[in-house]
Amino acid sequence: MAERPRLRRVAIVGASLAGITAAESLRARGFRGDITMLGAERHRPYDRPPLSKHLLSGGWAADRTQLRSTEALAGLDLEWRLGQPAVWLDPVARDITLADGSTLGYDAALLCTGTTARQIPHPAQLSGVHTLRTLDDALAIRTALDRSPRVAVVGGGFIGAEVAAEARRRGLSVTMVEALPVPMSRGLGQRMGQLCADLHLRHGVDVRCGVTVRAFEGDRRLQRVLLSDGATVDADLAVVGIGSVPATDWLSGSGIELDDGVVCDPFCRTSAPGVYAAGDVARWHNGLFGVRARIEHWTNAREQAIAAVGTMLADYGAGDAPAPYSPVPYVWSDQYGSRIQVAGRPSPHADAVRVIHRDDATDATVAVYRDGDTLVGALAVNAPKLLLPYRRMIAARTRWEDALAVR
Ligand code: ADP
Repeated sequence: MAERPRLRRVAIVGASLAGITAAESLRARGFRGDITMLGAERHRPYDRPPLSKHLLSGGWAADRTQLRSTEALAGLDLEWRLGQPAVWLDPVARDITLADGSTLGYDAALLCTGTTARQIPHPAQLSGVHTLRTLDDALAIRTALDRSPRVAVVGGGFIGAEVAAEARRRGLSVTMVEALPVPMSRGLGQRMGQLCADLHLRHGVDVRCGVTVRAFEGDRRLQRVLLSDGATVDADLAVVGIGSVPATDWLSGSGIELDDGVVCDPFCRTSAPGVYAAGDVARWHNGLFGVRARIEHWTNAREQAIAAVGTMLADYGAGDAPAPYSPVPYVWSDQYGSRIQVAGRPSPHADAVRVIHRDDATDATVAVYRDGDTLVGALAVNAPKLLLPYRRMIAARTRWEDALAVR
């Protein structure tokens, strides 16, 4: 039998939440070898949820989004290679090539390169069209918002919704362009999607559904957005929030199995020995729901990084065999002072949802979702405490009737 290689050098590709969590977890579990953090961006790890919230509003300076203090990072004794995207990984030689041509050998590698924002093609010289994924994106949008533009938000998902809410808070005119008949309906179903859309309508957003962008137009600067229904929206700033794609281009041809992300087993192992994946980029079979999926949420980046490190250490003989990673997805969004939280995997089918709590005075709402006779998802608006038990019940695969009986 082949001798198990020793774990001396770990390369973490992607210096964001999953990456820094993995580094911390390795050290916390006693790994004393080399850890190199590779990051495409020049920034030390920063937190993304505040970008579309506190950073856009100007409430937070950029520094405050730092995930860890300089002292905390120093304590981890990491080698940093920032501002250099990885461009190639050779799973046989076990090395990674960076954009500057340098290479880095590893015994084990963790891939947590996340996603990039989906774009709508437009002339490169046309300014005023943005996506929001990175700290630099958020700073550029904040600068643009400070000039009091007319705003077009493309996509009615959480990114578009939070940008719309901030622009309205500033008193700017906002048009939201959403491809579906109802925003958020692909995930939450029409009825609950409409609840989210109503928030925007009440706050004066011009919500246009069932349309897409045909073109962004202007003389060097954006002046108008042409829509698929022939309408024109005058706008100086467009923020495109139409989802994201896993950042795996650099791995194509490497032999690592890719399919809408890096394909993993239930223990976060990729198809290449010694290579693991975590966070938005990883796609695996979540046994709790019986689906193969990626999860693009903050909590998953943390939890999956810890799970992947557990598997890595066990594979190299430095820990117990891990359990399959089968989390309950969880995400939240803040819009107009309302907090929207989603746990599990809501079903969009009209007969899968039941509203179990509604308070018109505070807008508080809790809805639960089923798949067959099992509770699989929950949505809470302004009702964080009420969501908690349902999160637990989703993890426990609670029967639908039993979940409804809990009040
Ligand atoms: P994000 O994280 O960018 O908010 P989501 O996937 O949560 O991503 O939401 C994206 C939203 O954008 C969805 O509601 C989707 O229907 C909508 N969408 C996707 N493509 C287009 C498009 N070309 N024009 C307008 N809306 C779009």
